[in-house]
Amino acid sequence: MRDTVWSRTLATAQREELLASDTLPAVADVVVVGAGLVGLCAALSLRRRGAGRVVVLDRGAVCSEASGASAGGLWPAHECLSMVCPEVARRAAAMHTRLQDEFPCDYVSSGLLEPVAGEQAAAAAERANRIRRAGFRAEMLGAADVQGLEPQLCHAGPALHCPDDGSIHPLRLAAAISSWLRSRGVRICLGERVERVSRGGTAVLARGSRIEAGAVVIAAGAWTPLLTRVLGWSPPIRPVRGVLMATEAFLPGTLRTVVVGDRYYYWQLARGPLAGGGSEEEVGFERGVSPRIAADIERDWAERFPELAGVSFSARWSGFRPRCDDLHPVIGRVPGGGRAYVSAGHFRKGILLAPLSGELLAREMAGEDPWEPARAMRPGRFPPHDPPD
Ligand SMILES: Cc1cc2nc3c(=O)[nH]c(=O)nc-3n(C[C@H](O)[C@H](O)[C@H](O)COP(=O)(O)OP(=O)(O)OC[C@H]3O[C@@H](n4cnc5c(N)ncnc54)[C@H](O)[C@@H]3O)c2cc1C
Repeated sequence: MRDTVWSRTLATAQREELLASDTLPAVADVVVVGAGLVGLCAALSLRRRGAGRVVVLDRGAVCSEASGASAGGLWPAHECLSMVCPEVARRAAAMHTRLQDEFPCDYVSSGLLEPVAGEQAAAAAERANRIRRAGFRAEMLGAADVQGLEPQLCHAGPALHCPDDGSIHPLRLAAAISSWLRSRGVRICLGERVERVSRGGTAVLARGSRIEAGAVVIAAGAWTPLLTRVLGWSPPIRPVRGVLMATEAFLPGTLRTVVVGDRYYYWQLARGPLAGGGSEEEVGFERGVSPRIAADIERDWAERFPELAGVSFSARWSGFRPRCDDLHPVIGRVPGGGRAYVSAGHFRKGILLAPLSGELLAREMAGEDPWEPARAMRPGRFPPHDPPD
């Protein structure tokens, strides 16, 4: 398991849950490729709707890529204007609220603060209006209120405030869902790299073993096109590396909100550490944290929180966000792919959108009428090509 603030703040039982692997079956009703949060939530929704033998395969541990490297931010209000439509954000938020009742995940309803320069105040106020019209709470705060809400922040101007946004511990959520899935007979097989999905979506080949499947769901995050290409369809999803850093446990209440700047954001975990970052780099699948980005985040942090400039960010990690060209996820049947489905391309919002995506996918697989906003997320918006020989 990679060293992140999330892996450092896990209980032993949860760590074991994320690393435990079940034996590979020869046959399944549904094979989900990818045990990130999107794949787990797909399995959750499918199982809840009565799917029989569901198997989740991952080449690593549960949530060992983007989901476990994320900031765990649930910012439906702040993000609602960049979704297919605001209804998607409302529904995603409502689903998360229900999920958190069932699966404990350290949800912190801290609110989100976006400090703005004086000349940007009018545009930010207009954004606040639009967010309110979309059904969320949002307001502009003056400098004095900003200081009262976030005393460590060095900002003498206004800020956009979304009081209902917050964050979770993504690995705690993943461990709880994984445990639920296993208790309902779902197998989660780890260390199993899927080499190929058969053309009709009726089998997968993993490390030399073939699993016959009633259907295959490809939820492989930024790696999704590598698996769908053979089906004659390649969604324009590519990796965008993001870096985050965190301190050891810190005095509770040091940061009270999620502070979102123009390049980076910062927050404090329920379990104490201060954390921040969120860079975007187009470096393919090159792993690691570049010293230049780490120094830039530290510089930005010190400017925003001068009293905290000397804190030591002892944990540093990166992950690959799956970015789709049109910035919306791709959920549904693979064009021309028979019984192959996909749920991927969630870019910066996959933690927020995973439960909703699972539900939309399970609904389509059950042959139900699609929820209207889901049409804009369908794979068919990207045409198929000839499969390679
Ligand atoms: C730094 C950073 C911060 C972020 N912050 C937020 C945030 O605050 N809020 C938010 O909503 N989103 C955030 N995101 C985005 C979010 O993490 C992603 O959108 C989401 O995790 C995507 O989930 P996924 O399950 O599709 O992909 P992943 O979590 O990447 O999972 C894909 C899985 O597929 C597996 N896989 C790939 N290929 C194969 C194969 N051939 N065989 C077997 N397994 C395979 C991988 O091992 C991996 O486990 C952030 C991302 C990053 C990197």
